[in-house]
Amino acid sequence: MTLAPETTRGLARQLRKGFGRRCGRCGQSKAFRTYFEMKPRCDVCGYSFEREEGYWTGAMIVNIAVCEAWFFLLFIGTVLLTLPDIAWTPLLLIGLVTNGLLPVAFYPFSKTIWMALDLYAHPLETGEG
Ligand SMILES: [Zn+2]
Repeated sequence: MTLAPETTRGLARQLRKGFGRRCGRCGQSKAFRTYFEMKPRCDVCGYSFEREEGYWTGAMIVNIAVCEAWFFLLFIGTVLLTLPDIAWTPLLLIGLVTNGLLPVAFYPFSKTIWMALDLYAHPLETGEG
């Protein structure tokens, strides 16, 4: 399946907003007041960041997916690079530390990436937001 060029540009633009921790609608304003404290709505366009109750479950899925992908790459990379004597102890230590820190550090990004992806898949309807 290939996406039309305007569709991939739209997705790339939304992902830039998400990775920049910006409003998923306008991309003009930061979505976070501090590193961990999210604003309730956009300073520029007024978009309410929580569209419905339970909205941030998708952000949790984004965060878990990134952490699982990181550990998968770490595991496969370590095993392939250290065969036949696999470095289990460094793998365990690095895995424990990074899997403890990554979900916390990635938390704000997971929320804005989720918001951007959600707005890409479900654009606002007239009068919504
Ligand atoms: Zn905005």
